[in-house]
Amino acid sequence: MTSTAHSPAELLHRLRARTSASPVTHVEQIPAREGRTAPWPSWASADVIAALTAQGIARPWEHQATAASLAAEGHHVVVATGTASGKSLAYQLPVLSRLHDDPRATALYLSPTKALAADQLRAVARFGLDGVRPATYDGDTSREEREWIRQNSRLVLTNPDMLHHGLLPGHSRWATFLRRLAYVVVDECHAYRGVFGSHVAHVLRRLRRLAARYGGSPTFVLASATSGDPADAASRLTGLPVRAVTTDASPRGATTFALWEPPLLPPEDPFEDTPPTRRSALSETADLLADAVAAGTRTLAFVRSRRGAEVVATMTRRALDEVVPGLGDRVAAYRAGYLKEDRRRIERALLSGELLALASTNALELGVDLVGLDAVLICGYPGTRASLWQQAGRAGRAGGEALAVLIARDDPLDTYLVHHPSALFGRPVETTVLDPSNPYVLGPQLCCAASEAPITATDLALFGGDAARAAVDGLTASGALRRRPSGWYWTHPGRPDVDLRGAGGAPVSVVEASTGRLLGTVDQTSSHVMLHTGAVYLHQGVTYLVDELDLEDAIALVHQEEPDWTTQARDVTDVSVLGVRSYVDAGPVGLFLGDVEVTSQVVSYQRRRIGSGEVIDTRPLDLPVRELRTVAVWFTVSPRALDAAGVEPPDVPGALHAAEHAAIGLLPLIATCDRWDIGGLSTANHVDTEAPTVFVYDGHPGGAGFAERAYATAAAWLSATREAIAACACEAGCPACVQSPKCGNGNNPLHKPGAVQVLGTVLAALRSAGHSGSA
Ligand SMILES: [Zn+2]
Ligand SMILES: [Zn+2]
Repeated sequence: MTSTAHSPAELLHRLRARTSASPVTHVEQIPAREGRTAPWPSWASADVIAALTAQGIARPWEHQATAASLAAEGHHVVVATGTASGKSLAYQLPVLSRLHDDPRATALYLSPTKALAADQLRAVARFGLDGVRPATYDGDTSREEREWIRQNSRLVLTNPDMLHHGLLPGHSRWATFLRRLAYVVVDECHAYRGVFGSHVAHVLRRLRRLAARYGGSPTFVLASATSGDPADAASRLTGLPVRAVTTDASPRGATTFALWEPPLLPPEDPFEDTPPTRRSALSETADLLADAVAAGTRTLAFVRSRRGAEVVATMTRRALDEVVPGLGDRVAAYRAGYLKEDRRRIERALLSGELLALASTNALELGVDLVGLDAVLICGYPGTRASLWQQAGRAGRAGGEALAVLIARDDPLDTYLVHHPSALFGRPVETTVLDPSNPYVLGPQLCCAASEAPITATDLALFGGDAARAAVDGLTASGALRRRPSGWYWTHPGRPDVDLRGAGGAPVSVVEASTGRLLGTVDQTSSHVMLHTGAVYLHQGVTYLVDELDLEDAIALVHQEEPDWTTQARDVTDVSVLGVRSYVDAGPVGLFLGDVEVTSQVVSYQRRRIGSGEVIDTRPLDLPVRELRTVAVWFTVSPRALDAAGVEPPDVPGALHAAEHAAIGLLPLIATCDRWDIGGLSTANHVDTEAPTVFVYDGHPGGAGFAERAYATAAAWLSATREAIAACACEAGCPACVQSPKCGNGNNPLHKPGAVQVLGTVLAALRSAGHSGSA
């Protein structure tokens, strides 16, 4: 059962046949594409070409040859083509040719994940080139190995975090390597977006500055998934002029892409007027995955959350074992946070065909070159069209046809998309957003740079010109830097403590108390919600209960248990306004953009019965308050206007809360962010605004540009929100309109008709104030 006789159309037919309702809202046929090859470039090393030919590559695809030749000529270049289009060859050819022909030259390879760097190491080792001595250099590398690598390796594979924490601060020991640095490869560079991307942009500038000090001037070769304006994004990332190669010349099989809305469930009590609910996207995905496996189809299901991936894998295994005992063993879960050995084992099993299906988080979106899958199930819109295509691109063996299915979650954005296919197909993908001038990134990064070597006046242009000058002056005034005639100096004995991922604090290790076995890790921020004492935690389909979360030692002790309840954390959030950047005075309505401080604390959790969702009890928790300074967009509506719109005073809190949830749900349509990047708060009377107010804020310190985008396009954003709520068939609110999966108040209170009235009032006032804000 390792191959399938089913065409995508047959498989889709088979999947739809399992339900009497019609869950498919749209089918898009994406045609096949012929491949175009080019001759091997004349400058390429004969030994490198021989190694590639031995691996079965007769000739490069046109885009590979074009990008490789640009790089060999010394142009900075980004190759931005689809999944499995062979982007690695575009940098392997010039880099390995150079290392082979010039026995002194060195190169640095950067990837966003350790797994991908390990993968590249194996690929480069297959070339068997003498004297290159490629090596991965990351958190797992021992002290002795590090010393050897610095002395001997000419191709170092690492990640931006290691560059930031290890290599750049210790640059004097890397002097020879940096002086001879010919190439810097930045793989999967679309991963560097938002605040993380802005940090990485400065890490690369710090690298360029130090290399230049030692006399090195490397050529940058970047590889990206398809994105809106790759030359511009790569140029912002590196600070250099970058040429883009975007015409994908690799062959592609036809793809059938279906949009799928899970069917409505039969009412629990036909005599009671209960709101209709849909099957959950997780159950639906698990069923589709089981059907696909039973048909012998190699399938990958992408699930948004780690927990979701575990749940889908478990449900699929159970369903398969009921049909053919043992068949469930051919399905596994896969996500970041698994230990390296576990991930390797899973990857090997999928490649060999021992596993037929995986339920994965987007850890696989970046990782390993998995080919030969017949179908991809995408459980919930992944937030951007770029990610959607990246995930769908995993399906399709060489030349074969493939099936991709997007399964809508019960969520306003997903519901909107499966009914508006034109918002997905035939539209350009988003531009990767990053902003190196974010003051919360620029200041700390300038401190890092100064601690590595004093910043000179000429360096300021590299770090952003006027913004960098202003930041340096601020840091000098606060005493972090000291100005001397030769430049700005870092004044403290230690190095600045700066975390690129902005997650704050070390990841929490999940350890089985009885055996001491390390199960995986969870970042600090999520640990309050996922690993609080008493939480139910899933790992590879096994259920654990958390005995204790120790934040000081960043460890959660768990034991295996199968309770018949789930847990949901509750939090208390407060927003205070620090300053207003811009506002629209629309009479009874005010629209604002400004700086806020958000404090939040997970205070308790509910235990809910599996199946019925009935609340068993609520238990208190003692977790510290978290503080976040960020950017928010907010609107206020006068109580009189609410009254005139027909919102009764007791309904005001529920109406605002419902409008807040839906507005957050629809923001990704406009701001290309993720619902989970955004937070919100609504209140019938806020102490700073002295009015009924809805806040929507960036979940990252200093903001990531999402609230700004929401403010600029407020009319379009809020009218899409109003339309989504008003068009929902439910009566009192459901997850497809005003309920939120991340609500810290358990979705209470919510008043659906009130939300429509609130948004109507806001939109009318903005219109008469002349604020159009088109998307
Ligand atoms: Zn609804
Ligand atoms: Zn809420």
